Amino acid sequence: MVSSEKTGRIAIVGSNMVDLITYVQIMPKPGETVEAPDFEIGCGGKGANQAIAAARLGSQVSMVTKVGDDLFGDNTIRNFAENGVDTTHVKKVAGKSSGVAPIFVEPSGENSILIVKGANADLSPADVDAAEDMLRQADLILLQLEIPLETVAYTIRRAAEWGVRTILNPAPATKELKVSDISSLSFLVPNESELELLSGMPTTTEEEIVAAARSLIAQGIGTVIVTLGGRGARLVTADDVKVIEAVKVKPVDTTGAGDAFIGSFAHFLAATGDVEQSLNRAARYAAFSVGRRGTQKSYATAAEFEEFCK
Ligand code: ADP
Repeated sequence: MVSSEKTGRIAIVGSNMVDLITYVQIMPKPGETVEAPDFEIGCGGKGANQAIAAARLGSQVSMVTKVGDDLFGDNTIRNFAENGVDTTHVKKVAGKSSGVAPIFVEPSGENSILIVKGANADLSPADVDAAEDMLRQADLILLQLEIPLETVAYTIRRAAEWGVRTILNPAPATKELKVSDISSLSFLVPNESELELLSGMPTTTEEEIVAAARSLIAQGIGTVIVTLGGRGARLVTADDVKVIEAVKVKPVDTTGAGDAFIGSFAHFLAATGDVEQSLNRAARYAAFSVGRRGTQKSYATAAEFEEFCK
């Protein structure tokens, strides 16, 4: 069912990060040195995660991003290539570190995370211009907020001129983003707290969520898809609301579920053109990732997903 679909072209203008995960017994106090039992490196960053999900499902994915001139940058480029993501528009920034996320996991499961944006902070409108030929050919352009907002707004504006549809995941949430800067966006995919911040309206009840989403639609945004974790998602248009049910699984690790949902939604939408059906499949794809440990590691290939859907 999945493998017989045509493959779409998806471009991602977004971030990449390397997760540096230390499993600690106790966190060191200032000035103190302590040993930790375990350490793991993982490729992450919202842009990269969404790219990997779409590519594993079979889309032709091209990534516009920046890495540092360090071994993490090389590792990120290798990871894209191994997953079939086109790296023509992945640029190295001399003298800058790659984006990294040192993460400390305590025995209780509590995480403490530092984000160093590194080269991601240098992704500029000029980089979007440099990738224009590829971006114009895309079925969809996918964005998040781990790169400069100016670049996000510029890409959305240019894509509207080219007639290419855009999907924005407004994460991590920021007060700096103005709806007027992204009003030509085709699809906005926030969670409840991102929706609340962007609309300036409460999002506690179902009615409030729909009203907040519609306030953004009234300002020009095409469609709003609100993700609600284990409660699924809501597809909100000017005159309709559809409930996208979550698929029940025993949660093992919900990290990266949102990225799995959005990356796979882009894949299914580019392949089929059907928004509601694509969201239902994305909910299933995200559920698969919730049932496995890790972020990118937990994203299914087309074959694994087909098996999961049986
Ligand atoms: P974010 O991490 O961006 O806040 P969500 O937690 O809302 O994103 O998750 C996105 C989607 O992933 C949800 O709409 C749902 O379909 C799926 N999902 C997330 N958590 C679970 C869960 N515990 N069980 C099943 N599906 C889940």
